[in-house]
Amino acid sequence: MSRDKRVYRFGTDGRGGDATEGSAEMRYILGGKGANLAEMARIGLPVPPGFTITCQTCVEYAQAGDVWPEGALEEVAAAERDLEQRYGKRLGDAADPLLVSVRSGAPFSMPGMMDTVLNLGLNDESVRGLIAQTDNPRFAWDSYRRFIQMFSDVVLGVDADLFENALTARRLLAGVRTDAELSAEDLEALVGEFKAIFSDHVSAKDHPELVVDGAVAFPADPALQLRLAIQAVFGSWMNERAILYRQRNGIPDDLGTAVNVQVMVFGNKGDTSATGVAFTRNPADGTREFYGDFLVNAQGEDVVAGIRNTEPISDLASKPGLESAGAELERYFSVLENHYRDMCDIEFTIEQGSLWMLQTRVGKRTAGAALRIAIDMVGEGLITREEAVSRIDPAQLDQLLHPQFDTAARPDVIARGLNASPGAAVGAIVFSSDDAVERAQRGEPVILVRWETNPDDLKGMVAAEGILTSHGGKTSHAAVIARGMGTPCVCGVEAFRIDAAAKEVRIAGSDLVLHEGDVISIDGATGVVAAGAVPLVSAELTGDLGTILGWADDIRLAPDAGRPAHVRVNADNPEDARLALEFGAEAIGLCRTEHMFLGERKSIIQTFILSDDDTERAGALDELLRVQTEDFASMMRTMDGRPMVIRLIDPPLHEFLDSPRELDVAIARLEAAGGDPERVRALRDRLRRIDAMSEANPMLGLRGVRLSVIFGDLPLMQVRAIAEAAARLIAEGLDPRPEIMVPLVAITEEHVQMRELIERVLREVGAERGVALDIPVGTMVELPRACLVAGSIAAHADFFCFGTNDLTQTTFGFSRDDAEAKFIPAYLHRKILAANPFETVDDAVLELVRTAVDKARAVNPGMHFGVCGEHGGDPASIVRFLNEAGVDYVSCSPYRVPQARLAAAHAVLARTRG
Ligand code: ADP
Ligand code: MG
Ligand code: MG
Repeated sequence: MSRDKRVYRFGTDGRGGDATEGSAEMRYILGGKGANLAEMARIGLPVPPGFTITCQTCVEYAQAGDVWPEGALEEVAAAERDLEQRYGKRLGDAADPLLVSVRSGAPFSMPGMMDTVLNLGLNDESVRGLIAQTDNPRFAWDSYRRFIQMFSDVVLGVDADLFENALTARRLLAGVRTDAELSAEDLEALVGEFKAIFSDHVSAKDHPELVVDGAVAFPADPALQLRLAIQAVFGSWMNERAILYRQRNGIPDDLGTAVNVQVMVFGNKGDTSATGVAFTRNPADGTREFYGDFLVNAQGEDVVAGIRNTEPISDLASKPGLESAGAELERYFSVLENHYRDMCDIEFTIEQGSLWMLQTRVGKRTAGAALRIAIDMVGEGLITREEAVSRIDPAQLDQLLHPQFDTAARPDVIARGLNASPGAAVGAIVFSSDDAVERAQRGEPVILVRWETNPDDLKGMVAAEGILTSHGGKTSHAAVIARGMGTPCVCGVEAFRIDAAAKEVRIAGSDLVLHEGDVISIDGATGVVAAGAVPLVSAELTGDLGTILGWADDIRLAPDAGRPAHVRVNADNPEDARLALEFGAEAIGLCRTEHMFLGERKSIIQTFILSDDDTERAGALDELLRVQTEDFASMMRTMDGRPMVIRLIDPPLHEFLDSPRELDVAIARLEAAGGDPERVRALRDRLRRIDAMSEANPMLGLRGVRLSVIFGDLPLMQVRAIAEAAARLIAEGLDPRPEIMVPLVAITEEHVQMRELIERVLREVGAERGVALDIPVGTMVELPRACLVAGSIAAHADFFCFGTNDLTQTTFGFSRDDAEAKFIPAYLHRKILAANPFETVDDAVLELVRTAVDKARAVNPGMHFGVCGEHGGDPASIVRFLNEAGVDYVSCSPYRVPQARLAAAHAVLARTRG
């Protein structure tokens, strides 16, 4: 049992001294919010005093089955007494009460995931004290009713609608339209009603501590209020949406959340009070400007809730009564940026002209903004190019390669909203999270259309292609979450009059009514909403992205980088090769020749496989030679001067043949319809041949190099096509650089015999064409046996390329096609696996690769090594292959090349930083 300190103080105390014990480095102990509150106080910013209960306390509490660790409650009680002393007020005091907020804060920011309680400490006595101190009964009763509402919802899970209904009824009774118009008396009456709702909806059995005189009562004792609120924050760490968020963002479950107990400051004390959220730069596009919103005479969450119209932060300093606090805030923007050397996200409150900082953190931003800000900060001398590159998350680049509306299209614009998260999306309208999930599971793209989203909508937001809300601004829940996920989002589409119950939306200013299932298009970069499906196009690699990737290339290819980290592409046709060159690929790491046999060419290979007429087969082979030579020539032309690894035919043959089941059905139909008996017989014969080729385990069957051994004509033809194409281009004065790769080798002799055959053909063609064909021959290493005998294979190979899809498949004995659908999700859920090994490389697979590289290098120091499985495009795997397994390059699909370049630079930076 750890005897570590469980509670840390922060903030200015009543006598002006600083009592702060923590700092920004302590996020794993104090959580992000607590660590940054401490940091702000430490550097002299005004932070309301408080204390932070450590994340470790939460973990111990949860592990013990919701039981406080020994001594922890006492430590919290002591910290609370200390806070009362420092601040000179007491919780529950009838004359001048201390009020606090209880705020969650995990090591990684989890927006909207955890719960916060404000105004804690109010009861029938302390509310009198608050009235006496502020001379403002309306404010005091409003705070009290808000507290009961929040506490009931967050701590005890009482349905929030019950309170909203009571509020609405009260407004009707008072004959007013908004809450702000309710009088002190109205609010006092509401407090009574709220307490009654509480008593009626909390069970005495579950909460014996709340029973007074035989019935449940709203807890009056501030110490009990505090304990219950802290427990609720601890408990929220394991609520469903928090777990889902962590899963999606790869945050471990065992970190826990800290709890911050902090003296309340009030932004709702009249016209010289305000509350707001801000970013030190524009988080949507990165522009260097103050960005955010504030509300005069309002408290905390009002800004995000989208209830009232906010004002832009740039107007704050010119607001009567708020000038000096506004100017001070602007000063802190630069203090914080210089201190954190990054764009910050800030929550603040102004209480009667005094500014209080309530939160800061390095702000989330779109991919576009991340690039802009990093580049600007290099220009401002705040950070180095290496830091700029290391700050860009490769996975986030995806957003920039997100589709946009085709500029040639003429979208039928039906409404406009705020451009809350970039990228365009097309999908069917759905009005609820459940409907979003259901349709998405059927493979239908959807746009989730909501009044505003809340944390319970997360599932639907994950399932949707795009999100549209009719309310809420750019810092609303929908906007923040969408930007984090990289999902296109348009907020505040006021023309959308949504009737979620009827599953329809009226478009104000027109007679248009859209129903569930109707297709719309949204552009999160411009805020445009259009009817129907607007054609989309992908973005280009220019501007800021080009700049950062250029810096990344300088880093990963630098002569002093140790081993340079190269990026190649998997491309099977000239178009992909061209695209990959634009995306910055240096070479082709994998050209899958069998992909050249698809489409109309399928029948040629079928004839070759199935016919027993030798002339017919020879004819088919000639035809394949002709088309493959053309394919290779045009790819070598595109890749002139760059290596191009060509893999000999690899997949199980049945992939080229008709499905026997379908053929069977077709024959039965033909017969039933009295078709030509001659034709029926021919088809029967074909079916027999196909059946004869069927295998119980095609993935472990006649494929890879085994095919080349059995159908010796195939590799002869393919090598000849490569050699002919190369010879032709050399004759034209070009510089073709093909490399031939033998797939699925397990036994050294497989490779040795293939190599002899390949070299014989190369010599023949070279002699025929009168050119020297110096074409390297390598092995695709994708079986555990090959890794273990890598030293012996290496003596005959010029390079190795690891096929990590098959290597993962054969290391685990998982069939990829089935495993991902059938049981990997369950394995992830039950934590048997921490990650899908087909997405992120597994430790054991990595170890096999490392072993093979080490053995091979020892035998053949001139060899080079690459990875060309799916993992070659996964940023985390890229870093590990390059740094832990010692490979020279990764190869991935064209669209992942940009992020692979960045990840490769990250690998080199990680190495040079030790
Ligand atoms: P979240 O993590 O969801 O942002 P917070 O703990 O930051 O939750 O609190 C929610 C809101 O309550 C914020 O707007 C914050 O500014 C406000 N708030 C929290 N603590 C205080 C306090 N001590 N005084 C005034 N407002 C507070
Ligand atoms: Mg906050
Ligand atoms: Mg393979």
